[in-house]
Amino acid sequence: MSLSTTIKLPNGKEYEQPLGLFIGGEYITPEVDSKITVINPSNEEVITEVYAGDKADIDKAVVAARKAFESPEWRGIAASARGDYLYKIAQIIDRDRELIASIDSIDNGKPLPECVEGDLEEAYNVFKYYAGFADKITGKTIETSPEKLAYTVQEPLGVCGQIIPWNYPFMMLAWKVAPALCCGNTVILKPSEVTPLSALYFGKICQEAGLPAGVVNVVNGYGKTAGAALSEHTGVDKIAFTGSTASGKLIMKAAANNLKNVTLECGGKNPLIIFDDAELDQAVKWARIGIFDNKGEVCTSTSRIYVQEAIYDKFLEEFVAHIKDVTVVADPFGENTTQGPQVSKMQYEKVLSYIESGKAEGAKLAYGGAKASEKGYFLNPTVFSDVQEDMKINKEEIFGPVVAVSKFSTVEEVVQKANDTSYGLAAALFSQNVTQCVTVASKLQAGMVWINSNNDSHFGIPFGGYKSSGIGRELGPYALDAYTQTKAVHINVGLRV
Ligand code: NAD
Repeated sequence: MSLSTTIKLPNGKEYEQPLGLFIGGEYITPEVDSKITVINPSNEEVITEVYAGDKADIDKAVVAARKAFESPEWRGIAASARGDYLYKIAQIIDRDRELIASIDSIDNGKPLPECVEGDLEEAYNVFKYYAGFADKITGKTIETSPEKLAYTVQEPLGVCGQIIPWNYPFMMLAWKVAPALCCGNTVILKPSEVTPLSALYFGKICQEAGLPAGVVNVVNGYGKTAGAALSEHTGVDKIAFTGSTASGKLIMKAAANNLKNVTLECGGKNPLIIFDDAELDQAVKWARIGIFDNKGEVCTSTSRIYVQEAIYDKFLEEFVAHIKDVTVVADPFGENTTQGPQVSKMQYEKVLSYIESGKAEGAKLAYGGAKASEKGYFLNPTVFSDVQEDMKINKEEIFGPVVAVSKFSTVEEVVQKANDTSYGLAAALFSQNVTQCVTVASKLQAGMVWINSNNDSHFGIPFGGYKSSGIGRELGPYALDAYTQTKAVHINVGLRV
């Protein structure tokens, strides 16, 4: 198998897809010949095969990343020069945004316009944002006594392992790589084995931007092999992970090997609370966005909707009518498509089994509940109403287009229900009573709360969860804490002993 192949995309675009591991600035084959088949979720056909790395390749990447970290070409340059590299990368992403979005669309199944305007716009902005931050990372001076001057310096951590999921392949890469480089680290990125194409393509972007060899390395591979090797490697200083809580726990254990710095962005079972004084039309529209955008494959998706009893029936009626009105489940390259296929057969079957469990447990099927095609992993958006608290569809993260709607009467009751989960990633609420909004927001155990909107994250605002949804924060200036360590320098300016 060669190190690249020409791929013709459904929209007619043709490009050269790298297939090898990107280590030390070049594409190479793994130590042991191993491959991953990449499937198009829209038609279940093979797109291509890519090489899969394992422990020996992670070892190689660690050597390359360490060498780059200590090199004059990276460690020895001005902070603003790191910013220049990030800005160059941003410009290339901007130029190639249609192509990169098309790669993610065929690989993941997300609608192309949504990917161009959402994922790629975000990736571009994230690189641009951290380009600007590179020379604005500052320490402090600390007053203690006339004999001592103390100051702090924010230093990079070193070699950062970064493991990402399949739901926003290129955007997740941007969230991880940009702040790490901004702070002067080097990176070994392991993309999801389910959607490796755009991350491998990113190696070409790094080459074109002139990034010194080894600053970014991309080792595609499975979680249990390449991912585990990266997490436990004693030559890696930090591990940053986005994915399921189950994998997050394994990674944290492995990272204890050399007490790595760890940030985890894990799962969620996020509540949306709609009070009876809400602007109903807006609540309905944001409720749909909150669960059916990106086919429900969103960690912050509001998959539990609690509606106050006086407006429950009306909400349900308008919610279902709105879904019928705007949803087009079809090929992601179709012009009007709003919902593409689930990412993989495994994920598709998992979501179908939750739909069956909702039916079996006696929830009322208000809409959807079935496959949307014979070929490809297409599902109809599914709404269950009159859901009981302890039903599986209300307790477990489904990570698909399935929502559980139920009724509540008092504020105390809904806050208790909203918090009755081991997760604590996000929450949203709708009410025109500002006091009620702020009071309830303060009681919700969640890292992010949207008031009168839903799932409109922004790269300048911290992103991360409470409880089993994670540790640490990404985005905004908060991500700089995740990729630096503080050195305190004490200067004796007069103490004689
Ligand atoms: P996953 O945990 O199965 O895989 C995520 C990544 O971890 C992949 O690259 C995988 O190869 C790797 N991995 C798996 N097991 C590993 C191990 N033992 N050691 C090291 N690496 C390992 O998750 P997924 O199915 O790809 O993604 C869906 C999950 O991700 C959902 O639970 C979702 O909520 C979560 N997610 C969270 C956020 C967030 O920011 N909080 C964002 C997106 C997705």
